[in-house]
Amino acid sequence: MEIEQILERLCAVGGPSGFERPAVLAARELLEPLMDEVWTDRLGSLIGVRRCGKPGAKKLLLDAHLDEVGLIVTGHKDGFLRFKAAGVDARMLPDREVSILTDPPMLGVVACLPPHVLSAEDREKAPEVKDLFVDAGLSQEKAERLIPIGTPMVYRAELTRLGERQVCAKSLDDRACFAALLRAAELLKEAALDVDLYILGSVCEETGGVGAQVGAQALAPDFCVAVDVTFGRTPDCSKEEALAMGGGPAVGIGPNCARWMVKRLLDKAAGLDMAVQKEVMEGNSGTNGWDMQVANEGVATALVSVPLKYMHTPVEVVELSDIEDTARLLAAFAQGLGEEAAQ
Ligand SMILES: [Zn+2]
Repeated sequence: MEIEQILERLCAVGGPSGFERPAVLAARELLEPLMDEVWTDRLGSLIGVRRCGKPGAKKLLLDAHLDEVGLIVTGHKDGFLRFKAAGVDARMLPDREVSILTDPPMLGVVACLPPHVLSAEDREKAPEVKDLFVDAGLSQEKAERLIPIGTPMVYRAELTRLGERQVCAKSLDDRACFAALLRAAELLKEAALDVDLYILGSVCEETGGVGAQVGAQALAPDFCVAVDVTFGRTPDCSKEEALAMGGGPAVGIGPNCARWMVKRLLDKAAGLDMAVQKEVMEGNSGTNGWDMQVANEGVATALVSVPLKYMHTPVEVVELSDIEDTARLLAAFAQGLGEEAAQ
């Protein structure tokens, strides 16, 4: 399946932290044909394994999170919904469309005052979540009945092409990277492996990484690669702070990254004649890699990132070639890994 089609399916469903089930089900359907066994753990993370068949084989875990940023209904006022936000910036919210995750989902819009009635002072002020409402077009009685407190909501946005090589959607953080893991597993389908390959579609990254923490603890991998998005370059950000769109995957360098794994990733990219970028992370990487490296007696960890513009908005943008190259790099990294690690 083409990466764009995979993304269409993964991004079409809503799965904010703690409510990932629809995203996990969509991901599971795509993962199952590529693995020997697929299951979900107690927290709801998706796990697949492809065993290499060698006794005592080491384990490689590739992780991408399946949750996305979102909102949760906290109350009703005159039919409008009050909410709290997880990972969503209030500046992004006024006049957005949201998908209210009832069964079936309903459309909502974030209420906003027209500029005509705002005071000059209010026009300058950034809104706060506590002052915002979602309008589902319902009476108070219906809103309370159909959309109870605790109902999650996500941005509503279909995947669309942006120019020739980029796509735009909600939740590309981090489903673009889960698509890369699926593609890597597909590239490895006929290949002989000397490690057992685990794929983890983790829950609850946006709220602190517990899905990856529990996954790595339970699976006890010898090595893991956290695959997540990083800041893609736009004219308004400095070159040092962001990475080039279409410049290839970014290999993390810093205390979260085992140096031999960094070298192996860079060597494999050179062997594939693939452009890669280096991303220095001088402390906590802010990814699942930080949580996974301390599982059990420690896990040798690497970070590979896909540049993404407009993180945590409904118009997240990635370049398709960066996803494909991430997949090719991970597949090359996995092949023969057992042999290198045994040395
Ligand atoms: Zn992410």
